[in-house]
Amino acid sequence: MTISYEEITNLKFTGTQVAYYVICKRKLWLFSKGLSYESESEFVELGKLLDERAFKREKEEVEWGENPVKIDFLTGEEGLVVHEVKHSPKLEEAHVLQVKYYLWFLEKSGVKVSHGIIHYPKQRKVLRVELTQEDRKVIVEALENIQKVLLEEKPPEVIKKPYCKKCAYYEFCYG
Ligand code: SF4
Repeated sequence: MTISYEEITNLKFTGTQVAYYVICKRKLWLFSKGLSYESESEFVELGKLLDERAFKREKEEVEWGENPVKIDFLTGEEGLVVHEVKHSPKLEEAHVLQVKYYLWFLEKSGVKVSHGIIHYPKQRKVLRVELTQEDRKVIVEALENIQKVLLEEKPPEVIKKPYCKKCAYYEFCYG
């Protein structure tokens, strides 16, 4: 089945789904089908605690209308700056695409965006994220692929990556 550009840009995925698409397509499928073990994962809980402590005052999740995009917080600077707080840069590639997706989403919604900033408070690291012309194509392609994964009847195979051990679905995949 071919999806038109119009349909792709109207697909409403969360930033978490975009990040999971990079991390593991099986995780994306399980999470999207409501098989959530997230609240039982110490790893996820630790991240949440860290986020809350480091950004007690600034952090205020921003929901965009009826859309599923939830941004940690926004500031202004010749356009909106999207901020995302993460506990470890180990999955940086996924975090970067997630923030680029937010920038793309806001831009598509008619908002003037400037750039994104990923905060890794534990490592005292910040990463600036720009949205390039090439990124816009990559995001549309990613959304199309996410849709394809979710249309599958069964979850994709286990991928056996080092980060499986810290994944909330570890017991499910390897138990
Ligand atoms: S344990 Fe590994 S294979 Fe299973 S969902 Fe998590 S990352 Fe994917």
